Amino acid sequence: MGRRLLTGGIVWAGAACTPRAAWVLVDGVRIAAIGEGDESGGELPVADECVDLKGGHILPGFVDVHLHLSQAAWFPLGADGLSWASLADALHAVRVQAAADSEAPWLLFWRVARWTWPEGRLPTAAELDEAAPGRRVLVSTLDMHRGALSSAGLATLELTNHDSARFGGDITRDRRGRPTGELWEAAYTLALQRALTDLAAHTREAGTRAVLQAEVTRLLAYGITHAHDPYVAPDWHEEMLALHAGCPIRLSWGTGAPAGMQVRPPGPATAPDGWYGDSGREVKLFADGGDRCALRLPSRALVGLLGGALGESWRLRAAGPLREGLRRKLAIRPGHVATPYLRYTDPELATLVSDYVQAGVRVRIHALGNLAGGQAARVLAQLGVPPDAATIDHLLLLDPGTADQVAATGVAVSYQPGFLPRYGDMLTAARVGRYLTVAGGRLLLDAGVPLALSSDHPCGSVDPLHNLRAAIQRQFTGPDGQPRQLQPGQALTPSEAVRAATGTAAASLHAPGAGGLTPGEIADLVLCDGDPFHTGTRVVQTWIGGTPAWQHTNGAAP
Ligand SMILES: [Zn+2]
Repeated sequence: MGRRLLTGGIVWAGAACTPRAAWVLVDGVRIAAIGEGDESGGELPVADECVDLKGGHILPGFVDVHLHLSQAAWFPLGADGLSWASLADALHAVRVQAAADSEAPWLLFWRVARWTWPEGRLPTAAELDEAAPGRRVLVSTLDMHRGALSSAGLATLELTNHDSARFGGDITRDRRGRPTGELWEAAYTLALQRALTDLAAHTREAGTRAVLQAEVTRLLAYGITHAHDPYVAPDWHEEMLALHAGCPIRLSWGTGAPAGMQVRPPGPATAPDGWYGDSGREVKLFADGGDRCALRLPSRALVGLLGGALGESWRLRAAGPLREGLRRKLAIRPGHVATPYLRYTDPELATLVSDYVQAGVRVRIHALGNLAGGQAARVLAQLGVPPDAATIDHLLLLDPGTADQVAATGVAVSYQPGFLPRYGDMLTAARVGRYLTVAGGRLLLDAGVPLALSSDHPCGSVDPLHNLRAAIQRQFTGPDGQPRQLQPGQALTPSEAVRAATGTAAASLHAPGAGGLTPGEIADLVLCDGDPFHTGTRVVQTWIGGTPAWQHTNGAAP
């Protein structure tokens, strides 16, 4: 492949990702040198091929440490519900889809923002049955932590009374004890996994491979050089190994329970052996949920949260948001209130973490709320888990004390500023930001936490440039259509954001690229047509190991 010289660009150079006018010499799979001379000044090195970037920017390849590739790949086979404004919109779309596709094993609907609906709630099984008689229907919320199933969909899960105990409140039941069709958290992921498994069987092996490969191509077009899927069901492990062998992208993944992402994992004995793609073995554990996240708040928050739900009901002129708000559990404790949604007791979580870590499996702990983040940090500290044997995901709602506890463990945190544009309106309406930091990047970084910026696609936008901008701009669109900022003091600097999306992210996976654009490092890089922090700037080439793995051809938008 020889020596390739990239000139005339701005290079986000070194481990600190500092932008400066420079050239980059790539020799084989690695970066050979970075220098400051150009046509007007110093010497340029000799190369076999020279590319003039004409003012474009060179960034290290984006390493997305939390991206649900194996789920998002199937989205094109369903219908998008993001623009639905009410229950009636939802049921209409289900009717249309049922008529349009009589063969599909499941009718799947994604990205439903039910909190913007006057009803606030998802359709019931009875309503879905009426819209699509006899069909298996799954409607998933935008955050992928709650869904609605038709009766035929519910029947595939064969829920028993034993499952009632196992999944507790994750299965909503009517007064007579029958499931209503609404599933939360672990029970929702059970339905999701079942639907995707049926879909994979329906598309057959070649179809499944094509679905996954198309998703990889989309990721490359966004400049992602390494994608890490936090949960791949053990029976999809071989499929991922085949995908990894057949695609240029660096790919790695974690495992968990066969039944679904949030179901309690069975222990390391049944985890697949060997490396999981380009990273070691890993398992995903949930300290709390997503829709049901575990928070600890000052007592006065009780009034604020209720006020938030009331405000939303007033704004939408409907009781839905208030009714939904009152369905939340709140535990009143001395001096504080808590949403009691931890999935494990401390000893249960400690046993799981200890079993996996001792077997050489890294743990990736989902903790959205500060109560869950505190539990994760406490358990890791108590067990003396080495920093490179664990990662904590999200910490979306945090407080300074918990940030310090997390920092003391030394583990990396995967962080999603892309949630701000997507959920900023909802979080602001809930008023939770009055008591906690929301995506508190500055708090985490100042506490000394290694921060890995990630998308959590499809819960968040996949586009790293969009997520980088969100990390410094922290904007969302308010209900009046005007742009607003959420806790601007939590912003990162551009260099901090790029470093979090590249070098620190790679380091957290023990993958190539931890040093950024530095001589001797692997040449995984992204060429952009302008400043990555300017709206409208796009990725034009994605290089992996010194070779372009994707390039923008005229008119072919990602
Ligand atoms: Zn996730």
